Amino acid sequence: MSDFFLSLGRNPLARKVVRQAGLPIPLPQELTRQRAPWAHKTLAGKTILVGGREQHGRYGDMIGILNDAGATVLSGAVDTDGVLFDASALTHVSELADVYAFFHNCVGKIKRRGHVVILAGSARDSAESAAVSEALTGFTRSLAKELGGRGISVNMLRGPEGALLGGPLRFLLSDHGSFITGQVIELTAGGTACMRFDKLLEGRVIFITGAAQGIGAAVARRVAAEGAKVLLLDRPQELNALESLAREVHGTIIPVDLLKDDAVEVTLKKLRELAPIHGVVHNAGITRDKSLFNMSPDRWDAVLKLNLRVPQVMTDLMLGKELDFITSPDCSFVYLSSVGGIAGNPGQCNYAASKAGLIGYTRHLATSGGTGSRRFNCIAPGFIETKMTQSMPRGVRELARRFNSFQQGGEPDDIAQAVTFMLSEASSSLNGETLRVCGQNLIGR
Ligand code: NAD
Repeated sequence: MSDFFLSLGRNPLARKVVRQAGLPIPLPQELTRQRAPWAHKTLAGKTILVGGREQHGRYGDMIGILNDAGATVLSGAVDTDGVLFDASALTHVSELADVYAFFHNCVGKIKRRGHVVILAGSARDSAESAAVSEALTGFTRSLAKELGGRGISVNMLRGPEGALLGGPLRFLLSDHGSFITGQVIELTAGGTACMRFDKLLEGRVIFITGAAQGIGAAVARRVAAEGAKVLLLDRPQELNALESLAREVHGTIIPVDLLKDDAVEVTLKKLRELAPIHGVVHNAGITRDKSLFNMSPDRWDAVLKLNLRVPQVMTDLMLGKELDFITSPDCSFVYLSSVGGIAGNPGQCNYAASKAGLIGYTRHLATSGGTGSRRFNCIAPGFIETKMTQSMPRGVRELARRFNSFQQGGEPDDIAQAVTFMLSEASSSLNGETLRVCGQNLIGR
């Protein structure tokens, strides 16, 4: 859907006029988005300025990854496409001055639409190192807010020594994750090192619910472009859209209404024939907004059932002994949560409960064991331009678009990029995580 202010922002003259007139709302900076599939040299043509203590932390790993990804590594404060700062060796509050000094010198040199990543360690073995770790999160979120107007993303990767960084660094420093900013992403120690970063999902079978339109259709297109075979589920009344998408991406359709009583059984019967599946995307979701006082039981039930109960029951059955052959032992499960589930929204007690429920569910699965090397993560979109948000009242929609550090809505493909990353080996150090793709929406953490 067209965004008048974003279109105006594409015009340099209009930007200048707005700046000179001192209008209170600056025009949003259009982001650069990578439309092509992943390449091994994900950062080819990009310059990355690197900072940190050369003899400590992950400095050496970082340089190796950047070289392998095709980036040109810089060490002085010159104009740059990206910045990578290793703060993992910092344990004393006084050492935060290193962060200040480094960024104070280079912040004006980061090109518009660039990307910044800060690395932090997760060892918090003293109260002071815990203070340092959290101080870095505050720094990251504030810098993201300062630089968002220039379309620059700022994110933090925090994890133990040895956590695999290659995939997350490529994702956040490239234009595959441009709409993600102000996020603190927790890495785990496990995972399989990804050796090649092209055709990320070659030979993988990915099952997507709610695939006929919006985010689901964007995910189908993106994962197919990365080499996956796609299984597309949506309601029978969306058959035309589903069939046309299936022709486009050479996918298989599964027309099922997930609100029907036998839906999970019917779906699993079909998936048994198509096993093994390497990725599951629980994307189908609805809103039925009303203040709690006016909310009828059917509004509550439908939202809780489709958004939370169905993904939970289907996953539980897929992990059970009888049906665990349906998914591969390294299957990646991705659930579409929402920033609304993290922050809460008036009129959305049902929706927010369902989306927050997914976060608790995946976090538990990731840590409970007995699921092989399967992984469970959520993606929490902010305001994304789809039919769902098109149905918002105009004024609310306009406000929601501006309510993030980039002052614009996201595209379905921004979510598809994040889902693709989560489905692939590039994210094997993420498990039980909720990744917000929201341009640092100003609500919630
Ligand atoms: P959308 O309404 O455009 O698409 C949802 C899809 O789910 C549709 O194809 C629809 O037919 C399908 N669906 C609905 N009920 C179904 C049922 N009973 N059985 C099977 N399929 C069914 O929505 P979207 O904006 O693409 O959102 C996709 C997901 O992302 C949802 O879970 C939504 O809650 C979440 N999300 C979206 C936004 C946003 O801004 N668009 C923000 C946060 C979270």
